[in-house]
Parts: sequence; C-alpha cells; structure tokens
Amino acid sequence: MSDTTTDTIFGKIIRGEIPSEFIYEDEHCIAIHDVNPQAAVHALVIPKKAIARLVDASADDQVLLGHLMLAVGKVAEQLGVADAFRLVVNNGADAGQTVFHLHLHIIAGQVFSEQKL
Ligand code: 5GP
Repeated sequence: MSDTTTDTIFGKIIRGEIPSEFIYEDEHCIAIHDVNPQAAVHALVIPKKAIARLVDASADDQVLLGHLMLAVGKVAEQLGVADAFRLVVNNGADAGQTVFHLHLHIIAGQVFSEQKL
C-alpha cells in the first residue's frame, strides 16, 4: 500500500483538488495546519507519495523518511516551535490513525514535560 494514486483527503489536498493552505512545500512533501488542532500549534507533514501507514514504507522509502524528519525541523522553525514540540505518527486504526496516507503530527504550544505521552 504505497502508491501515488491511493485516494485520501490528503491525496486530494496534495493534488489541489481540495483548497488548503500549504505552510511548507518542497519536492517530496507538504505541511498544513491540522483542521482539528489538539494544541496551540498542530501541523501535519505529509509526503506527496501516498504511503498508507508507516509500516507500509519500504527500503525504497528510506531517503524519503529522512527527508520528512528534516522537513519537520524546517516547519517547526517556521512555526516558531523548534525548541519544544512533539512528533507523533499514528500507525493503524487502533493507534488512532484515521487518514491512511502517512503523516507526521507536529504538536506544540503547550508544556509537555509532565506528560510523557
Ligand atoms: P490521524 O488520526 O490519521 O493520525 O490524523 C489525521 C489528522 O488529519 C487529524 O488530526 C485530522 O484532524 C486531520 N485532518 C483530517 N482531515 C483534514 C483536512 O481535510 N484538512 C486538514 N488540514 N486536516 C485534516
């Protein structure tokens, strides 16, 4: 499950079929604000390649996965939260994944130090 035609809401956003403000974009990924933020800052970094879940990534995606991590740093800098954010990937429905197109949640704007998860 890692092709470019898998249709999810994120696929539609990436293809511009659903208007959405990209707060970051490069050749391999975009970032958008989450429509239902769980903290003051809640952004999603989404690869343009439609990998359904993290576990569906293959060795071919190794560079892309590293690229996403570096993009997270850039987006966090851009949003002014580079000194304190959480990075979350929900993998599978039982873990809370609702959109089956890999995405990384950047969650920030509150103090997490007493809250480990
Ligand atoms: P998941 O639960 O799959 O880890 O995360 C999916 C996230 O996508 C949720 O936090 C949800 O609020 C967000 N989301 C779902 N649909 C849209 C949308 O159309 N636009 C944006 N910006 N976020 C969305």
